[in-house]
Amino acid sequence: MSNYNWCHNPDCHKIETQSRVRGSGDNKVLRTIKINTNRQWNKDTIWDYFCNNNCLFSFLNKFRQEVANIRPVNKPSETPIKVEKTKYESYQYRYSNGESRRVPYQATRTTISRVDNDWPFLYSPRYENN
Ligand SMILES: [Zn+2]
Repeated sequence: MSNYNWCHNPDCHKIETQSRVRGSGDNKVLRTIKINTNRQWNKDTIWDYFCNNNCLFSFLNKFRQEVANIRPVNKPSETPIKVEKTKYESYQYRYSNGESRRVPYQATRTTISRVDNDWPFLYSPRYENN
């Protein structure tokens, strides 16, 4: 198995950087970036296929329709949740006459929690199965 990929942006070789220059003398070219897929930081991520953000987003923009067609979304998805509002005592500072005073007030905390039990699995798009 090869331990590298060529950057998948079809225009990667048109970007003028020193890192893309190959060849010698009058036979120089700009070449698509070779990506080492053995690096730990990009293992099994999108960075196995794109050399940087610019190339990734150039690819996504150029092939946006094909990318959208891989997994069409024709209706919104919904996640059942429970919204809980709880009151708690907090403080704010009031400034007057060049002095600040710490004043208590009733604050509200909003907590969103899942109704079903498989939160950790559905939380990541990777595990969606609908
Ligand atoms: Zn690239």
